[in-house]
Amino acid sequence: MKEYSRQEVAKHNKPDDLWVIIDAQVYNLTDFADAHPGSALVLHKVAGTDATEQFFALHRHEILRKYSRLVIGKIASESPLLSIPPPGSFSKVPYAESLAILDKPSPFYTQSHLKWKAAVRHFCDTVLAPDAEQYSNLGKIPDKEVLLKIGSANLHACRLGPGDHLKGLTLLAGVKPEEFDYFHEAIAHEEFSRYGIYCYAEGLASGMMIGAPPVMKFGPAWMKQQVLPKLFSGEKMICLAITEPGHGSDVAGIQCEAVKTPCGKFFIVNGTKKWITNGTFSDYFTTAVRTGKGPTGISMLLIERGEGVTTESIKTSGTATAGTAYVTFENVKVPVENIIGKEGGGFAVIMANFNHERWAMVAGACAGARLVIEDCFKWASQRKVFGKPLIEQPVIRFKLGQMIAELEAVQSWYEIITYQMTKMSYKEQTQQLAGPIGLLKYRCTRMTNLVADNAVQIFGGRAITRTGMGRRIEEFQRVNKFGAILGGAEEVMVDLGVRQAMKVFPKDARL
Ligand SMILES: Cc1cc2nc3c(=O)[nH]c(=O)nc-3n(C[C@H](O)[C@H](O)[C@H](O)COP(=O)(O)OP(=O)(O)OC[C@H]3O[C@@H](n4cnc5c(N)ncnc54)[C@H](O)[C@@H]3O)c2cc1C
Repeated sequence: MKEYSRQEVAKHNKPDDLWVIIDAQVYNLTDFADAHPGSALVLHKVAGTDATEQFFALHRHEILRKYSRLVIGKIASESPLLSIPPPGSFSKVPYAESLAILDKPSPFYTQSHLKWKAAVRHFCDTVLAPDAEQYSNLGKIPDKEVLLKIGSANLHACRLGPGDHLKGLTLLAGVKPEEFDYFHEAIAHEEFSRYGIYCYAEGLASGMMIGAPPVMKFGPAWMKQQVLPKLFSGEKMICLAITEPGHGSDVAGIQCEAVKTPCGKFFIVNGTKKWITNGTFSDYFTTAVRTGKGPTGISMLLIERGEGVTTESIKTSGTATAGTAYVTFENVKVPVENIIGKEGGGFAVIMANFNHERWAMVAGACAGARLVIEDCFKWASQRKVFGKPLIEQPVIRFKLGQMIAELEAVQSWYEIITYQMTKMSYKEQTQQLAGPIGLLKYRCTRMTNLVADNAVQIFGGRAITRTGMGRRIEEFQRVNKFGAILGGAEEVMVDLGVRQAMKVFPKDARL
């Protein structure tokens, strides 16, 4: 790379000959100035000078990567201070990575988990990041190529947890299918959630995370053989369709009906489903239908997109990347073999499925909160107000400390529950962990609430601006409430936790 002295750069100080130094690199901005979103004028003011401090007061470091074509050389015998981490690397910012990952002793994580985390992060940094930047704000669904690449790396299957479905698959970092556990899975959820939780990340087949498990755990053999491979490869997409316009929290009240034809070979399905994640682009719908009266009249049915199935996009506070849909089933003919589990046994399937969904949501939310905390730490260190960095203000340090303490408390509980899951069968998890997971999810969404609130205050105006330094904070605060409602509202989660505890409350316990 060509080298210049600072004196040489200083000569290029006019609008028609405009060079600047940023972090020891020399940029020629002459032709770019008119396209500068912050106006050409501000660039004219720093022409020929070292604009490093002004640059980092207003821009994220990714901007330097975006405009690397404008670099014409470097300052002789100086090296950049900023190290842009290569894909797959871990952040050195305090609390930006979970404590266990940073060579601290842990009762839970092994070398296998650490290798796995680095490999999944590398995959996400190289495959997801470019797509996320391009698509998320445009509201387009993730590129099919990306969904297929996730399939090629067997990451769709891995995000569905440990089990027989992984047998014979080649996993990243050489992790053997038989050693893959819920910690590996949690790490995959965490890594995927680094790219816009509830927005872009939701579009990455998150409908499959909740729509496929009923097929895997309760589906008939033919369904597992024919449908699952197409899902794992990314060729086909699936979603979970339970909620209806009139029935969200009270799942037992769903109305979408499936009536058997006189020949007994088919169901005719009529009804609507609301807010179905990935619904706009799914090929299959794992659908809760009413086949009889009361809670024992609910069944789960695999419905393939076809005649009578229509989906419409719902505009949420997130982006359309999630493919959130209003689904209408109108006289849809479904073979009776498409029942998942037993006819009338749908409620149990739904409840078992919720546990895994809620636990995975916590993994993603912790990762999202961690990214926000990392951004806040960086911002508070580089942003100068009243002549000194924000971090020098005790009130700002208190806010940061509050966020860290809340996050690490939730992370610890979630790791303990994850460990318990590694020691329990799916049935035992359903029986014993529904209450604790409900309470954990509640605790987690209270934590993200505090993180979002504090982060907005630390970032100021940039936290409510969709582009620029605070774009991650803006997205996080905008969609923060999703977790408090989806997969079970906070009030319902807390109530579930206490009701489950009441079931094992000893009859002879007295004060
Ligand atoms: C973006 C998005 C994506 C979604 N994705 C899916 C999906 O993929 N598949 C799917 O099936 N569903 C999905 N849902 C639906 C979601 O699970 C429901 O929104 C959720 O279960 C709550 O239902 P509701 O919105 O109808 O709220 P309601 O049931 O109307 O409840 C409203 C509020 O009342 C309170 N409340 C309810 N019951 C109680 C109670 N017993 N005690 C105290 N307070 C209570 C809570 O505060 C709750 O927030 C999604 C929703 C959204 C917004």
